[in-house]
Amino acid sequence: MTAGTEARKVSAGHHRPPDVLGAELLDQEDRWCAHNYHPLPVIIATAEGAWVTDVNGKRYLDMLAGYSALNFGHRHPALVGAAIEQLNRVTLTSRAFHHDQLGPFCAELAGLTGTEMVLPMNSGAEAVESALKVARKWAYRVKGVPENRAQIITAGGNFHGRTISIVSFSDDPVATADYGPFTPGFVSVKYGDPEALAGAFTPDTAAVLVEPIQGEAGVIVPPIGYLAQMRRLCDEHNVLLIADEIQSGLGRTGELLALDHEGVRADLYTLGKALGGGILPVSAVVGRRDVLGVLTPGSHGSTFGGNPLACAVGRAVVKLLATGDMQRRATELGAHLHARLGELIGKGVAEVRGRGLWAGVQLAPGAPAGRVVSEAMMDRGVLVKETHESTLRFGPPLVISRDEIDFAVDSLTAVLAGD
Ligand SMILES: *Cc1c(COP(=O)(O)O)cnc(C)c1O
Repeated sequence: MTAGTEARKVSAGHHRPPDVLGAELLDQEDRWCAHNYHPLPVIIATAEGAWVTDVNGKRYLDMLAGYSALNFGHRHPALVGAAIEQLNRVTLTSRAFHHDQLGPFCAELAGLTGTEMVLPMNSGAEAVESALKVARKWAYRVKGVPENRAQIITAGGNFHGRTISIVSFSDDPVATADYGPFTPGFVSVKYGDPEALAGAFTPDTAAVLVEPIQGEAGVIVPPIGYLAQMRRLCDEHNVLLIADEIQSGLGRTGELLALDHEGVRADLYTLGKALGGGILPVSAVVGRRDVLGVLTPGSHGSTFGGNPLACAVGRAVVKLLATGDMQRRATELGAHLHARLGELIGKGVAEVRGRGLWAGVQLAPGAPAGRVVSEAMMDRGVLVKETHESTLRFGPPLVISRDEIDFAVDSLTAVLAGD
């Protein structure tokens, strides 16, 4: 048994005497499921809106929302309705044949995002990989970079997924250890520093890949003007700007896209997480026609990408976002969340970062570890999760209410006060 499983058992046992069903499920998972996660010891059985219920019937407020995959809450009726309707029609065709959901999905998503073309994929990592492939191909075919010389600039502290090429430009030792040899062709510069970025361009640079707000790193918002400066530098050097909005996009920050706050447009966006409505994995690269247009039949693909069920759910997601209601909720309730969390600065919290219904709460030195706080909040019926030991990430479903936000912050207040 590894140290990780030991730790999980200890923490599971520490919080409540394990009930028989719960203990059995944890044991089964421990034995049969690869140990690449360290979940809180809560076993969810059902969920609705912003709430989940565990196998013992205890309810918890979900303040993580599947890392933004559940922006519209659990089982939003419009999304479940669209899925069920499509389940009763056709679910999969492969791209060997056409189906009647693909064209509408791409047109509607392009319309929503103000882009010209859509490449549907499944997971977020696949969307990022696809954008990198497209950028390289564009560099050779359009920009005129010599074969196999294309470079892509990335930012320190990034998180773009888990494939070998993507972890090749990660600086997180846990995400990269023992996975070499790594994919060449990437250079990393300090996030938020326009001068470091300016110095990294060469004639072979194809693209800059950036998260407009870094989620996994702890909800890091770059200095105002950084992204606009990035846009200018990309234009100057004839380089593509690829915005990874998989976690920041689709309403989370109060705008459709986090880049919208700065009035900046990317050449390509990667979308995922909430695009699948919390029902199934749906991702896409959206952007310029003359860039995505470099793809030709056979040069890229995915068996499940753009399947009828994914497109039907994606269309329902687009429809929800088209009214702007979700974005307004994120703005208004986000201001409340940030105001409430701000009251904790000096009371166990060192800093609160973020935008909209998205907050990185930096615990002060001397405060309990993130994991300890997460477990104590779980006991109080609130689910949050630490990232990088001392940061708590709050990213509730956008359907959450003001009172529910108060319940979550009051729980954190009590935990930090040692109540
Ligand atoms: C989650 C995430 C990804 C990867 O998405 P998966 O669906 O887990 O592959 C990529 N980029 C960002 C910014 C993310 O938050």
